[in-house]
Amino acid sequence: MTGPTRLAERFGTPSYLYDLDRVAAARDDLFATLPDGIEVFYAAKANPHPELLRELRSGGARGCRAEISSVGELYAVLQAGFPGAEILYTGPGKTTEELTEALTRGVRLFSTESPGDLARVGEAARALGLTADCLLRVNNATGAAATSIRMTGVPSQFGFDSETLPGLAAELREVPGTRIAGLHFFPLSNAKDEASLIAEFRHTIATAAALQQALGVTFRLVDIGGGFAAPYAVQGERPVYDELRDALAGTLDEHFPGWRSGAPRIACESGRYLVADSGTLLTSVVNVKDSRDTRYLVLDAGINTFGGMSGLGRILPVSVEPHESLGADGTPAHLAGPLCTPGDLLGRGVPLPGLAPGALLTVPNAGAYGPTASLLMFLGRPAPAEIVVRGDDLVSVSRIEHIRTYEHGQAL
Ligand SMILES: *Cc1c(COP(=O)(O)O)cnc(C)c1O
Repeated sequence: MTGPTRLAERFGTPSYLYDLDRVAAARDDLFATLPDGIEVFYAAKANPHPELLRELRSGGARGCRAEISSVGELYAVLQAGFPGAEILYTGPGKTTEELTEALTRGVRLFSTESPGDLARVGEAARALGLTADCLLRVNNATGAAATSIRMTGVPSQFGFDSETLPGLAAELREVPGTRIAGLHFFPLSNAKDEASLIAEFRHTIATAAALQQALGVTFRLVDIGGGFAAPYAVQGERPVYDELRDALAGTLDEHFPGWRSGAPRIACESGRYLVADSGTLLTSVVNVKDSRDTRYLVLDAGINTFGGMSGLGRILPVSVEPHESLGADGTPAHLAGPLCTPGDLLGRGVPLPGLAPGALLTVPNAGAYGPTASLLMFLGRPAPAEIVVRGDDLVSVSRIEHIRTYEHGQAL
């Protein structure tokens, strides 16, 4: 029995429930949405749970590679079976120590953000007698007109400014310990619709082709980014992209005629689309409180468990599904977590039937940006249990633990 009520009784709340069948379905859907031969890097930051990682890698030629941005993520993906050759290391603050560790563990592909970053990758590689394949991340001066979340065209810690990149070509081609493998774009997250996604990809591909000319380098890999959307903590379905496959293939044929035979390889990236709908958050009502004209439902899950990034001032439009109703008075309630900060709110004015302490609620589409994107350590509560099922079969139950380690206890 893997229903939420049974699992909550058995393993307690707050807890996460992930279904590997849904991870596999999302992975298969994404590959089916893309032209054959396009690679997919899974952004481990969306959810680095080992069983989810393993599921995303499986699928043979239609399995994901891994995109990571820390040594912690490096160990997670290695343990899940991704060899170094399937890993892309990205991020604006790569230190020599972590680069050395990644290279030692077999990672050869790095996204670089600036001349200084490229030089540091080269130094780390050279010290080990290696050459690192480097993508130049591009902060495009322009975007497709239609898109919503704009991450490029403005000053940023991410990427080389596209307008000045060609002028750096000679310098970048000669950085010891590195070889320019191609470009990396990530202009868009959670695209509002298919038209925006296609428009942004088209724009990215045209920019990549122009930069290949300007840089005088034959690209071996172009990572055109992502933007595949998924509902987050609200009811809804992953979008279906009917037109993307043909649109992408056509645009690639136009700008990179050799791409079908891997010259260059084309990759894209995804986090939320692949894992969001595999996850459900299970939380119990601890207390019901009326204050002035507002009802508060105090839950055992707060920003330490979910949506921690909302602790930075962004309230999610969380929706919850009650699993029992004790009289339906329909009073909208603020969903508060258990933490001693007024910022611990998961939702405002959420319509709910009358609920008593002990009632179970579930938050749908919570598989991406869950525990590891939350304020896990704040207020010292245990991390939520993470329950993994495959359909009706229980696969594992685990919990992240933080342990303080002392290095110089005696010497102090
Ligand atoms: C976060 C991130 C992703 C994943 O974004 P989603 O919106 O979850 O798909 C992919 N690529 C890069 C570079 C990222 O920083």
